[in-house]
Amino acid sequence: MTEIKSDSTLTILPEPEAAPAVRFDEFGLSADILRALTDQGYIYPTPIQVAAIPVVLAGRDVMGAAQTGTGKTAGFSLPIIQLLLAHANSSASPARHPVRALILTPTRELADQVAENVKAYSRYTPLRSVVVFGGVDMSAQTASLRAGVEIVIATPGRLLDHIQQKTVSLSQVQLLVMDEADRMLDMGFLPDLQRIINLLPKDRQSLMFSATFSSEIKKLATTFLRNPLTIEVARSNATAENVTQILYEVKEEEKRDAVGFIIRERHLKQVIVFSNTKIGASRLAVHLVKTGVKASAIHGDKSQSERMAALDAFKRGEVEVLVATDVAARGLDIAELPCVINYDLPYSAEDYVHRIGRTGRAGATGDAISLMTEKDERLLSDIEKLIKQKIVRLHLAGFVASTTVVPREARASSRQPSGSQAGRPVPSSKDDSVVKGERRAAARAPYSSAPKVDPWFLQPYEPSVSRLPSAEKTSTTVPVKQVKRAILLGG
Ligand code: AMP
Repeated sequence: MTEIKSDSTLTILPEPEAAPAVRFDEFGLSADILRALTDQGYIYPTPIQVAAIPVVLAGRDVMGAAQTGTGKTAGFSLPIIQLLLAHANSSASPARHPVRALILTPTRELADQVAENVKAYSRYTPLRSVVVFGGVDMSAQTASLRAGVEIVIATPGRLLDHIQQKTVSLSQVQLLVMDEADRMLDMGFLPDLQRIINLLPKDRQSLMFSATFSSEIKKLATTFLRNPLTIEVARSNATAENVTQILYEVKEEEKRDAVGFIIRERHLKQVIVFSNTKIGASRLAVHLVKTGVKASAIHGDKSQSERMAALDAFKRGEVEVLVATDVAARGLDIAELPCVINYDLPYSAEDYVHRIGRTGRAGATGDAISLMTEKDERLLSDIEKLIKQKIVRLHLAGFVASTTVVPREARASSRQPSGSQAGRPVPSSKDDSVVKGERRAAARAPYSSAPKVDPWFLQPYEPSVSRLPSAEKTSTTVPVKQVKRAILLGG
């Protein structure tokens, strides 16, 4: 792997074909970790792992500009597990298992997936880990925290609940990870982050990962990181080179049939279809089910357990099509997803990058298929400007729409008054709402009336109703090297 190194930045350049591959056992990771990686079917480290693992092991702070699906979770968790092995013990005393590493993520799904990875990588070590997020009963989390645990993976709000109830102490944290920092800022978590970080020892190692690298993120990095090494493996807002992007122009009223046609024509068995609105996602899923497709919707109006059940069914293959809104899909770790479909072009071009990052993960190839109507030219041109490439427009050969009935939301959008994005599919205010930090982003976006976030996810810290603990209910893009995996789904 070619590297350009300066004191503060490490840029990874494309690897010459004949370059000898780096192996996991060259990092000095313990045999217990290597055994777990073999179980996972990992053969070669991904570029972010090659770059980050030695740097984290050496104790340096890192600012990682890593695209979704690059393997960044293992990039930070493997060296963390290795560093904590020095403290690993099998004592039953909680005092011997203080929290030493804290991994903060913006969403529950991402927290869950990072936790699954950490559990898998540390399974042959005595290190303990727990995931802590809201929307579920607190008592199991409380019991694990009280029993003592070295690695905590948490969303900020629920962690603050535990801190307030004194079920967790962060006074011995030596490693902090802020994962998907850009999303945390977008979701308005900065004050929560600040409160948490103020409770950590000053003398610690901090790592920050972000898909995009805005000036706000850089500012956050200068506030919380000490002389970090910036690792860039993919240009911010670059789309994965191993994703084939296709665009079909269809009529608004043909979109649902077109999605069904594409799924059947391509024999798709694992696909995420993105909708801009919750109501649109629900209706599309119902429509697909009616036409015999095993589909389910995942969005903010669904309860945590409904969403987890839909995701599990998808991972097991019982559900073949997951229709999702952007925030609901964020962080879903579904390896080797061969295809994503944009039922709607997203209002924000950055969401397009995140959506198609669901496929072509960790070196696999994938297709990103988008439907567009004549009203979407502006959205498309924003996307093409951001990704600095033209997306090929194709004719959906063989497709004959079975119905000319106009979907309800299309009728609604055509009734929009001219001042409110006339002619564009604008979701009704009932469907979604713009919350907190998203307001700023939405205001910058060309479609400022368009909502961006499912409020279900956005829970800035609100202390739980106080209760007795016992009564708790509560700069060069790298084509990612092709890696073989034994695991089809999940992380
Ligand atoms: P991440 O970017 O951390 O969300 O990882 C994306 C996916 O790649 C996850 O499903 C991981 O399990 C998988 N993965 C991470 N590292 C490797 C590797 N070295 N080889 C194969 N798969 C990997």
